[in-house]
Amino acid sequence: MLATAVGIRQAAAHLRNGRLVAFPTETVYGLGADATNADAVGRVFQAKNRPAGHPLIIHTASAAAAFAVGAADPTAARLAERFWPGPLTLVLPLRSEVGIADAVTGGRSTVAVRVPRHPVAAALLRAVRRPVAAPSANPHGRLSPTEAQHVRDELGPAVDLVLDGGPTEIGVESTVLELAGDRPLLLRAGGITVEDLEAAIGPVDEPGADEPARAPGMLRQHYAPRTPLRLDADDPLPDEVYLGFGAAPGATCNLSPTGDLEEAARNLFVMLRQLDSAGARRIAVAPIPDHHLGKAINDRLRRAERGAASPGGPASLQTVCERPS
Ligand code: AMP
Ligand code: MG
Repeated sequence: MLATAVGIRQAAAHLRNGRLVAFPTETVYGLGADATNADAVGRVFQAKNRPAGHPLIIHTASAAAAFAVGAADPTAARLAERFWPGPLTLVLPLRSEVGIADAVTGGRSTVAVRVPRHPVAAALLRAVRRPVAAPSANPHGRLSPTEAQHVRDELGPAVDLVLDGGPTEIGVESTVLELAGDRPLLLRAGGITVEDLEAAIGPVDEPGADEPARAPGMLRQHYAPRTPLRLDADDPLPDEVYLGFGAAPGATCNLSPTGDLEEAARNLFVMLRQLDSAGARRIAVAPIPDHHLGKAINDRLRRAERGAASPGGPASLQTVCERPS
């Protein structure tokens, strides 16, 4: 359903009645449920085939509503002022009095909260007037959806309503930052860069470059296409399709011919989907600089590399990347 005022009103009513609604955010499409309704939250896990214990991010319309769910310290308040609404998730001590369903936090004493800036997500959350738990709207372990059609194709009737707000702007998931320990800890690289976080609050602890972020439920293999990947490839081999970045003559798809990391993040999942359906033996990926949004891109690529299935596929290559980036 198109994300008109009528569509948003209907989606809000669905959420308040315990049904599941997929909606666009600036990062990727989310699969939302009333975070205070244990049955609805349970259906999110079922729809995604997500293992129990993998906590969900709660979305709210305002920082005040987010901090009613998770307790804010001065660092959280500063980050909220600087980056909300936007693609930053804060992991904070859970305030138990709001009645968040246990499955949302996996029984933890911390909770992940975010205020999205996509106008459709914002309008929907204002209308629901409840915290909405919303993981990415993809089957567990698959690529996150950046268009409404990806959700319809992969989750189908498990979702009561898909709000279509067009392709998402950022294209990779939110940055997840834990503020429950001594020092801010990066759990997942994402739409807000570490450089920007550090400019606002000083040093942030990060896992080593080869060690993916360690949020619970963040498997080392995740975000996977079915075709195997080969990363940091300067050139494709004869049986490979090539995902380029910057000047990359002969690239099957190019994340950003001009080497723009924001454009590359926006194109990442959709081009991996296109290359995945090309029927190649392998997807070779050009090196991506490991700074700013490149950190989030490389994190997703490393997970996709680990999670991809067996080599193989039909002999004839399908045409892909018809849409210019
Ligand atoms: P997604 O389901 O794709 O939106 O991803 C949600 C991410 O947030 C996962 O990587 C979770 O591990 C992380 N997350 C959610 N809640 C918590 C929490 N209480 N503590 C730590 N990480 C969390
Ligand atoms: Mg996800």
